Amino acid sequence: MKKILVTGGCGYIGSHTVVDLSDNGFNAISADDFSNSRRKITNGISKLLNKKHINYEVNLCDLEATEKIFEENPDIVGVIHFAAHIYVPESVENPIKYFRNNINNLLNVLECCKKYNVPNLIFSSSCAVYGNTKDLPVTESTSFGEAECPYARTKQMGEEIIRDFCIANPDFNAVLLRYFNPAGSHESSEIGEAPIVENTHLVPIITEVAIGHRKSMTVFGTDYNTRDGSCVRDFIHVMDLAHAHTKAIQYLLNQRNEQNCEVFNLGIGEGVTVLEAIKAFEKVTGIDLNYSLGKRRAGDVAAIYADTTASRNKLGWTPKRNIEDIVKSAWDWENNKSWLVED
Ligand code: UDP
Repeated sequence: MKKILVTGGCGYIGSHTVVDLSDNGFNAISADDFSNSRRKITNGISKLLNKKHINYEVNLCDLEATEKIFEENPDIVGVIHFAAHIYVPESVENPIKYFRNNINNLLNVLECCKKYNVPNLIFSSSCAVYGNTKDLPVTESTSFGEAECPYARTKQMGEEIIRDFCIANPDFNAVLLRYFNPAGSHESSEIGEAPIVENTHLVPIITEVAIGHRKSMTVFGTDYNTRDGSCVRDFIHVMDLAHAHTKAIQYLLNQRNEQNCEVFNLGIGEGVTVLEAIKAFEKVTGIDLNYSLGKRRAGDVAAIYADTTASRNKLGWTPKRNIEDIVKSAWDWENNKSWLVED
């Protein structure tokens, strides 16, 4: 079984990817310092793997500790690098936290890949690199826009760092995956989204309001130039997203890449407005959500959705789930996650 190191592998997308890799015959180990994930999630992961999940509790900004993982695992054939801070509003308030972490840990991972001869990297990037583009749907060749927030800038910088690294190291291969809006959870409800810091993402906020952990929620902006005035996003089910990583690592291991640094959008290719996402939740669950219409939120782009031709054709990846599957699985997880979040 080929060994893959998944950084941030106890986090939201990381944990689902560990499970998908394992379902597809890989041995996935993780490096996660639990700065925004819960130790107990390893129980859920282990249950789905049918064996104890191996995690290194390491902050990847610590080069020595990161090197130790590679020293102890000389059979790692690829790294999937998720570990990063990910919240737009928090990044606007605390940019240094974002630059310090998201850039330093990437540099350390690259340095270790070089030192320990690990030739394959999958990088978690984001559609935030496109900024407030009018060019919809966005293709991978749509150029970077002005970053709307420091989080987005760390992803732009991360991509550029990897590109330069690939130029300097022609035998190194990287795939940059630009996620649109991941949401939902594993169908078993054994794992799901459970961050330590306050979640500011739309779908978990919807489920937290519905279950009563929050009194109400606000739709941020109803005066955008979109079909109902609220922002448009391309919501992608986390299991579809996780599977794209398995496809991407297989793509590199089977040497199907044409260049040593390639980029793919990962969305379903359809825009859904914030109000439509709320309505999908209400329809699937029969719950009337307590929400109000409010002002725009700093850092938001009006509308963004993906052209997914490249990921479908080249990676052979087909997302299978829609917004209703997303909100249904998110709701199931909300109803099941108390074992994880309550101590
Ligand atoms: N959003 C909202 N109310 C909330 C949280 C998010 O209206 O309580 C909107 C947000 O303004 C954006 C969309 O939902 O238009 C998706 O935001 P999220 O933070 O989930 O992801 P982002 O697109 O910022 O990465």
